[in-house]
Parts: sequence; C-alpha cells; structure tokens
Amino acid sequence: MKILVVGSGGREHALAWKLAQSERVQIVYVAPGNGGTARDSRLQNLPITDLNTLAEFVIREHIALTVVGPETPLAGGIVNLFRARGLKVFGPTREAAQLESSKDFAKAFMKRHGIPTAEYETFSDAAQAHAYIDAKGAPIVIKADGLAAGKGVVVAMSLDEAHQAVEHMLSDNRFGDAGARIVIEEFLAGEEASFIVMCDGKNVLPLATSQDHKRLLDNDQGPNTGGMGAYSPAPIVTPAMHARVMREIINPTIAGMAKDGIPFSGFLYAGLMIDAAGNPKTLEFNCRMGDPETQPIMARLKTDLVGVMEHAVNGTLDAVGLEWDRRTAVGVVLAAAGYPEDPVKGNAIDGIPAETPEAVTFHAGTAEVDGHLVTSGGRVLCVVGLGDSVKLAQKQAYETLEKIHFDGMQYRRDIGWRGLKH
Ligand code: ATP
Repeated sequence: MKILVVGSGGREHALAWKLAQSERVQIVYVAPGNGGTARDSRLQNLPITDLNTLAEFVIREHIALTVVGPETPLAGGIVNLFRARGLKVFGPTREAAQLESSKDFAKAFMKRHGIPTAEYETFSDAAQAHAYIDAKGAPIVIKADGLAAGKGVVVAMSLDEAHQAVEHMLSDNRFGDAGARIVIEEFLAGEEASFIVMCDGKNVLPLATSQDHKRLLDNDQGPNTGGMGAYSPAPIVTPAMHARVMREIINPTIAGMAKDGIPFSGFLYAGLMIDAAGNPKTLEFNCRMGDPETQPIMARLKTDLVGVMEHAVNGTLDAVGLEWDRRTAVGVVLAAAGYPEDPVKGNAIDGIPAETPEAVTFHAGTAEVDGHLVTSGGRVLCVVGLGDSVKLAQKQAYETLEKIHFDGMQYRRDIGWRGLKH
C-alpha cells in the first residue's frame, strides 16, 4: 500500500518513519519532505504543496491513506477537499481545525462546554483592550486570534509589556488578519504537559504523554521557540491525572464538537497547565501532533501505525489498543545559529550516526544539495535517545548528538529536566 504524509518537519519525518515500518507499506510519500526523508529508501519526497495537485497525485497513484502533519493545510481545508474527492485522510476539517486556527473560537467553545481554561475576553478595539488590562493587572497573557506560528502569544509580566503587545497586534497590525482580534487571558502558573489523542469523530485513543521545552536556553530561559526538545512519558501525568484530563477536558471536547455539529477527527493536542494543587487547565488546543513531541512518541510506539490509521479513518478507533516501549524517549532539537529570529541556512551537516535501537535522528530543516546535507531551517534535527530512565535516555541522546556537526549548532543540555525532578 502507498501512503502520503503532508509536511516537511521533524514531526512528519517521525510519522513517515513509523508508517514505513509496516510490512504492508510499499512506499510513503512525504510532501514536500526534507533532507532526511529524501535519504530514506522507504520514503520518497514529493515537491507538491498545492492541495488540488496533491489530491490529483493521490488519485493517480492509488494512495490508500493521507496523514496531515501541520496546521496550515488543515486550516486551509485539505481534509474537506480530499474527502469531497472520496479520499481517505486523517485530520480535522477546516471547521473543526478552528479549535487551533482561532483562539476566540477555542475559548468560546471551552466556555460553552464547561472545559477548564483561563478566564478571558476577546477584543478588536485597542482602547477596550488597554482598559481591560488596566482593570485586571499583570501578569496577563495576550494572544493573536489566528495562526501565528507560535509567535502570537505574549506572556506579559508587566502592564507595560501587556500594553505594548496590544499595540503590536491591534494598532501596528504585526500579525495581519491573524492579529486583528486578540484574546486577553488570565495568567496561569504551574507545569505544562502535552496531552495528545487520536480521534475518529467519536472514539478517542490517547497517545503516550509528553512534555515540550519551549524556551531557547537551559533552565527555561531566553525567547520562546517552536520547541527545543521533548520527552515521553511525562511523569506529571500520573494515571489519576490522565483519567481526570480525559474526563474533564478530552471527552467533553470531542462530545462538544460532535454536539455543535462539527465532529473532530485527527490528532487533538491539549496543551495543559497543571497548577501546584494538581488541577489541569487547557492553555490551547492544537489540531495536529506536536513538534517535537511526535519524535519521542513515535520512537516509543510499538503498534503498527498503518493499522491504527486505517481504524482512525474508518471510525473504528474503539477497536485499537496501543503498545508502547516501556523506556523513556528524550528528543533534543539541534537548531541553526540565529534561531529563532534569523536562522543561518546552507551550512554543511556531518556525522549523523545510523539509527540504533537506542537512538534515532529525525530531520527537520535539512535539504540535500548536490548530494550533500545542509541546514535549511531553524530547527535542523531532533536526536531521540531511549533508555530505562530519563537519565539513561538523556545519555543516549546527548552521546549521539555529540557526533553531529554543523556550524553554529545550538541545543539545550537539560531536555527532560522536569522528568528527573519527579
Ligand atoms: P504553539 O506553538 O504551541 O502552537 P501558540 O502560539 O498556539 O503556541 P499557546 O500554546 O497558546 O500559543 O501559548 C504559548 C505558550 O505561552 C504556552 O506554551 C505557555 O508557556 C504560555 N502561555 C499561554 N497561555 C498562558 C496562560 N494563560 N498562562 C501562562 N502561560 C501561558
């Protein structure tokens, strides 16, 4: 069977890598893919980004199943388009993807269905937003309504910072349409975790738990990034916490979407904030898997992902149980010099070791130029190590990444630190 994965990041490399392990798979196309998916003989890059052209390719090549990685094609309606042409595709429709593509939609949805989240108000008028901030005080969080590639959120520790964020988004129009409306919400303190499930419209299948590391530098310092590393499982999500998140957040979300007439299928990612008393609240929804959470999660998945995907697109996820590697997986992102503001591209990459049962390297911002691998984006690689504890998994990841070289390579040395603490 042939499969298509849409996207070009580390998340898509990890999904394609896992799908290609199935004995039933002949080839996994990755559109457009990266330097790593180009080099894997079981994968083939497809230089197509236009959704109609992609659908035509899928029909012509008899591709059995499409899995969509990033949010942009989902918000652009790839699932609506593929389904209208009778194609099997795993992901939410454009309407369901609003859980991620509009923060105002997500917040109103949560309020309507009693799903725990920070208190908020939505504004398109700057004067009203400023007045609200003065009334509420700092710290306070300002969010652009639309998709802003992780850059549309300002956690303001002072009133000045909060007012400035409103100016940037509403008055200076920094994020265009995505920032024409803003959500201002209560600051939540606590520890974050990523809670990702698969859904077929009604049945829910939770994946292994994980935690991301958003800040650029060790000890959670420096600017926010797309994510500098992740590990799985996340010990803060105990079995009791897992049951509670399913009961209070995930199940009401899936039931609420169905009730509102926009059933959700695809990966649903709830970004959680768990406070000191152990109460979880929803920071955000993503309608896709996390990057880099996917890399350690896929490294631990033992079940054939193709079979799972078939159940997912046929509405029979209730028949699936997932088997996980009992080890911890720690994924460390190697980023280019200048990331996140202005990553340097075109530097040669050397020394990526072959995959072993203890370590695998997934590509993101890499490209093959004249047979050589070079950096082509901010987050370049994600090295995943597996071990019987967080410490041993870290050791595998860090020993592996020491063999890799490109000019200006930067990475955090503490991925998984919260796991050591628990
Ligand atoms: P992503 O790249 O994860 O899609 P995003 O732009 O959708 O990011 P959010 O996940 O909503 O933004 O917020 C980004 C980060 O800001 C969160 O991971 C969290 O650290 C912080 N944050 C968001 N909302 C709050 C809040 N209410 N209180 C405290 N911190 C918050």
